[in-house]
Amino acid sequence: MNAEWFEDRPHEECGVFGVYAPGRDVARMTFFGLYALQHRGQESAGIASSDGRAAYVHKGMGLVAQVLNEQNLSPLRGHMAIGHNRYSTTGSSHVRNAQPYLIETVYGPLALAHNGNLTNALELRQELLKRGVGLSTTTDSEVMVQLLAGPKETWASGYSANGPKERWEARIRALMHVAQGAYSLAVLTREAVYGVRDPHGLRPLCIGQLEDGGYVLASESCALLTVGATYLREVEPGEIVRLDEDGLTSVHGHEPQPRALCSFEYVYFARPDSQFEGQVIHSVRQRMGRQLALEASVEADVVVPVPDSSTPAAIGYALQSGIPYTEGLIKNRYIGRTFIQPDDDLRKLGIHLKFNPLPANLAGKRVILIDDSIVRGNTSGPLVRLMREGGATEVHVRVSSPPVRHPCFMGIDMATYKELIAHRLDVEGIRQHIGADSLDYLSLSGMLAAIRAGAGQHSGHCTACFSGQYPVHIPRWLLSDEREKTLFEGVWGV
Ligand code: SF4
Repeated sequence: MNAEWFEDRPHEECGVFGVYAPGRDVARMTFFGLYALQHRGQESAGIASSDGRAAYVHKGMGLVAQVLNEQNLSPLRGHMAIGHNRYSTTGSSHVRNAQPYLIETVYGPLALAHNGNLTNALELRQELLKRGVGLSTTTDSEVMVQLLAGPKETWASGYSANGPKERWEARIRALMHVAQGAYSLAVLTREAVYGVRDPHGLRPLCIGQLEDGGYVLASESCALLTVGATYLREVEPGEIVRLDEDGLTSVHGHEPQPRALCSFEYVYFARPDSQFEGQVIHSVRQRMGRQLALEASVEADVVVPVPDSSTPAAIGYALQSGIPYTEGLIKNRYIGRTFIQPDDDLRKLGIHLKFNPLPANLAGKRVILIDDSIVRGNTSGPLVRLMREGGATEVHVRVSSPPVRHPCFMGIDMATYKELIAHRLDVEGIRQHIGADSLDYLSLSGMLAAIRAGAGQHSGHCTACFSGQYPVHIPRWLLSDEREKTLFEGVWGV
């Protein structure tokens, strides 16, 4: 299930979706919402729904279309649903970790779908175990659902609630005061669907409205359009939104902290047709390319993107530099994440399983190859060789983000120093490693200028993997490459 043999992209660990829409087939809507968010997680998918009495769930390993079908969608009855797709880090790729988690509580069913990572998961996990709460998975998301379901004495002083809505809102609020790190949540109860965003707004979450009055939550706005919803706004950092018979209600969750939306969402993760902070991702990536051309120009004949994610930056670079844009690599659009591993003979073909060069556009040309990021550095060398195979006389690699020198602990699978090539080598060392004629990156200030040109004065962004400046406290144990073992020692033999 590991696709590293043809990929050097970090993975988002999840996409979430939620809908409250009486009279609509909410399971089907959630299926298509997850389908639009497939790029955010490709190892498991699932949907939980409720009709106000009981709740139903189906989840499994694989792409959305592999896990869900007509047969298993039809039992997912009701007028509200949440969905989740997930990419997992090595060692935790198992159906028991698939979401949404659905459990029975004293106040009825509770389901949760989570995008992000808690930085104090170990502490919270140990706290639950000490209290005698059994845990059946290795995820911090299960910790969150168990904390929400916990008894009254779980919660800090200030707990007072009468009706079911107040009860759940008080619990979500209390959870927000103990959970640290990144979380965008879709929560399903018998009464409502809730959207919750951590106080820094590290991971995205937005709200849309359906024509007939229902509401939708999604990690990215592309999923709203897919189900026919109109984009309304983002869930604010620290905000709880409730979708129910009263419509859309905003509830205070946690005092907002300095904003820190993940800048890698702009660089690579988000779909180019999604929007954050009032700007379409495609335009931001074009600005990054323009800025890169200003900072790292080089004489060449053509600008070629590593498809598809680097295309907008390559267009921007070409527009700014006046050097023609062309396609030089053809990507197998269907390879996706595969569960079939190549055998040794196929493995030798390496990058050819994913890309082929286009000699008609490359032969005899000095090429600027635009990539949006270099993380582990395992595909840049093969890509440069492909350019030369296609007849390029020079290959100048330009990267539309800064070098990734620090791990991410907030929901992205680049979690150790040792795996990051820019932590081990300087730019010249990386150039030699990948065999390019020259290599240059967009500066941190250049990247932020491209993001903030349209994001407004009050925006704020996490840049920790580039700068080492983490927006949240990172405990020492998390910095250890042995942390998976520490966290789950004794659990499932991990
Ligand atoms: S460390 Fe990097 S990938 Fe992780 S949240 Fe911050 S900007 Fe995003």
